[in-house]
Amino acid sequence: MPSRVLRRAAVTAAILSGPVGWVTAAAWGLPRALGAHRRRLRPVVTGSSRFADGKFHNTLPTPAIAPANTRDGLLRQWHEERHVGLPGGPIPLAASEIPAEAGDLAVTWFGHASALLEVDGHRVLVDPVWGHRVSPSPVFGPTRLHEPPMPLEDLPPVDAVLISHDHYDHLDLPTVELLLTAQAAPFVVPIGIGEHLRKWGVPEERIVELDWDGEHRVGGLTLTCTEARHFSGRYFYRDTTLWASWAVAGPRHRVFFGGDTGYHPAFAGIGARLGGFDLTLLPIGAYNDAWHAIHMDPEEAVRAHGDLGGRLLLPIHWATFNLAFHRWAEPVERLLAAAGQRGVDVVVPQPGERVDALAPPPLRDWWTAVGSAADAPQPTSSAGLGASTVARAVTRLLSLRSR
Ligand code: ZN
Ligand code: ZN
Repeated sequence: MPSRVLRRAAVTAAILSGPVGWVTAAAWGLPRALGAHRRRLRPVVTGSSRFADGKFHNTLPTPAIAPANTRDGLLRQWHEERHVGLPGGPIPLAASEIPAEAGDLAVTWFGHASALLEVDGHRVLVDPVWGHRVSPSPVFGPTRLHEPPMPLEDLPPVDAVLISHDHYDHLDLPTVELLLTAQAAPFVVPIGIGEHLRKWGVPEERIVELDWDGEHRVGGLTLTCTEARHFSGRYFYRDTTLWASWAVAGPRHRVFFGGDTGYHPAFAGIGARLGGFDLTLLPIGAYNDAWHAIHMDPEEAVRAHGDLGGRLLLPIHWATFNLAFHRWAEPVERLLAAAGQRGVDVVVPQPGERVDALAPPPLRDWWTAVGSAADAPQPTSSAGLGASTVARAVTRLLSLRSR
């Protein structure tokens, strides 16, 4: 445990917040969720060509968080606009109808980046997050905007669990713990994340760690770890594990899973080498000018889809968590406008909905009716920037580092 840093953080939080019990509750449970200590990570990752000076590096210079003056702006934005990304009403869920036999090309989207892929009769679960809160703390941080559409235990057996990187909205400790007993499939992960999994009790034979361009065969599928433009870290340490997107190739169909990434020029090379892709799952939400390099916006997702040689685009990384300041449905509205201009086929399922990607349903707008909390009158606060508001804002800004 980074006890000195943790102590300092706890003291800071205590000064900001006051109630000691609240701080204690927030710190409780931290050590396990944080994952492996960087000293344990170091021997595993030093063989990667992407690892130098104690960290993993993107190909392009990639500022993950803005300079201090922008951070001040974010603090103001958090105080004034933190509700904007919330939905205006309940998010409708679809009953997941997953066939006993895996299809040729289908995807069930569970919200955010979590999905079940069916490719040529095999199943791959990607970035499964069933937990309530995506944060190192059981008390602070963003919580789900809708319930998981189905119990994790009800999933049929999968051939692999793919993870894009170690941020909380992609790698969830309670979900991993459930998968330990509910599934027998290997976790196929970017290099370094295996050390988190070992700490959480995942047996060695269920861990496959890959560098960019590394591949693993499971059943009839080839899983290829591909470059992404992002960062990693579960709180105190940054970039000590690798981040990635994934290509899933069967004998007849190919899927690209973007995970969490900024737009980058390597998409074209991935498309040329491993594509074209019958289906791409690309992130469209949680964008902001301050972290544009590591979260692409909807227009860039359409561009990346073209670079990859994608046929059908299914948007991910939106709807389930409020991680930025844009309106709740804005990502999908911008996506459809950009896709329309470029003639790109898009499918936007409800959370829980299974889509046959070989015969996708026509677009059905279910998001406009949900609306945005930004349209509802907000309670006015006379307290100004009180201590608890500042504490929440500091926590929020710290947690922005962990997406
Ligand atoms: Zn992330
Ligand atoms: Zn994310």
